[in-house]
Amino acid sequence: MNVTTRDLLAAAAAHAADFLESLDDRPVHAAAALPDLRKALHRPLPDKPQAAKTVLDELVSDTAGGLLGSAGGRFFGWVIGGGVPAALAADWLTSTWDQNAALYACGPAEAVIEEITGEWLKELLGLPGSASFAFTTGTQMGHLTALAAARHHLLESRGWDVERQGLAGAPAVRVLTSGLEHASIQRSARLLGIGTDALVAVGHDEHDRIDLAELERTLDEHADAPTIVCLQAGEINTGAFDDYTRACRLAHTYDSWVHVDGAFGLWAAVSPTHRHLLTGLELADSWTTDAHKWLNVPFDSGLVFVAHPDAHRAAISTRASYLVHAGDASASVSSGPPARDQIDWNPEWSRRGRGVAVYAALRSLGRQGIAETVERCTRHAQRLVTEIGALPGAEVIVAPQINQGLVRFLAPDGGHDQHTDTIIDRIQATGQAWFGGSTYRGMRVMRISVVNWRTTDGDVDRAVTAVHDVLAGVVREFEEGRVSNAPWPTRRGNS
Ligand SMILES: *Cc1c(COP(=O)(O)O)cnc(C)c1O
Repeated sequence: MNVTTRDLLAAAAAHAADFLESLDDRPVHAAAALPDLRKALHRPLPDKPQAAKTVLDELVSDTAGGLLGSAGGRFFGWVIGGGVPAALAADWLTSTWDQNAALYACGPAEAVIEEITGEWLKELLGLPGSASFAFTTGTQMGHLTALAAARHHLLESRGWDVERQGLAGAPAVRVLTSGLEHASIQRSARLLGIGTDALVAVGHDEHDRIDLAELERTLDEHADAPTIVCLQAGEINTGAFDDYTRACRLAHTYDSWVHVDGAFGLWAAVSPTHRHLLTGLELADSWTTDAHKWLNVPFDSGLVFVAHPDAHRAAISTRASYLVHAGDASASVSSGPPARDQIDWNPEWSRRGRGVAVYAALRSLGRQGIAETVERCTRHAQRLVTEIGALPGAEVIVAPQINQGLVRFLAPDGGHDQHTDTIIDRIQATGQAWFGGSTYRGMRVMRISVVNWRTTDGDVDRAVTAVHDVLAGVVREFEEGRVSNAPWPTRRGNS
């Protein structure tokens, strides 16, 4: 059966709407086991063409049970946002237009959209208006871009051209962190040839902020070394914010570069209630965040900003004989500043018009809508931690300051770590809510993260009830003598 492209797209839209409308009722966990998914999806490689409508319909039926409900309102694992409708729809158009957003010449409208959206973002997030920016796949590639700019800047001032000479023989770059940095910082150091041996954990205070006295001591110890200081806006477990004003002043005394990982926490700057947490943020040299987390743009959508556009461009820009650069004299045909070529700022060559969905999200939410999302998610996270923490057998470890908090579950025999993991598995298996585990200060904990615009008070109620019922069930099993003393047996996989 042949269908027109219009009919096929209408069918895709219907499947998409069905999925979104089922989010409230479908289990939040992926109920299908690995062998089931392999069996369903591993159809023979076809020799002959297949009808597009059949391919589409079977894609939907074959993935049944293999999709997490992370697009919905009761998924609180990792830090995973949803997609606001305008961004989702704009993302479809981006695929439809299929522009190669590497250069203005390959997709003029998308280049201009990124130019405008980058300016809006700096204003929203309170970053310097003169900063350069790029729309990356995520914070990981944002870090890579920012740290490449940092490496250029620090080595250029020492007479070393790292883009030409590489790192062998260069003054050794070191990277100072609190020790709580996200692993994507380590991977950036690996990919940039800096190496993880160059990472120095200076330590943190009891609020998970970088220890300023130790930072100063470490900076002073090798005062001449090219140094990058990595701060955080939203530590991955607790959402902690560093003291940017003091850390930046200190680092700059030693001509160091300050990079801020704000993968989710940077969005707190949009909320008048939370903006104070980011005081001094603008003093840093580079920043990364994700639009696919708290802004609720579909994957993959990261952002990087650099206070030294020359270093950013020197580290990333590239030229080839067949490219047409808007900044080159031959290409400028109109008045005003030259167009923005994304390839000068982005680590990728060919790429999708990633700015389009961000542009749509910013326009549809507005400053107020983003602030409300931040404040609402924070309220939900606080309720989840407080109400789960108040259940018998639960304990609050960190109450949320923004959208992240930690609880754990106490076993009668003191085996809290294994018990906490067991309870997390059982909550996931209910399909009512999804939380993940983490290790915090040597303890297993359940991390509660709320970044989805869809989460409602009703979702929070359902999640708390699910945890309550799991805990009550465990007590019942114990009382009925069906299990010996804790740790309770785990129940992984299908259920
Ligand atoms: C998610 C996250 C990252 C990695 O971001 P990606 O978008 O997955 O590349 C880095 N740091 C923090 C704090 C994060 O939450």
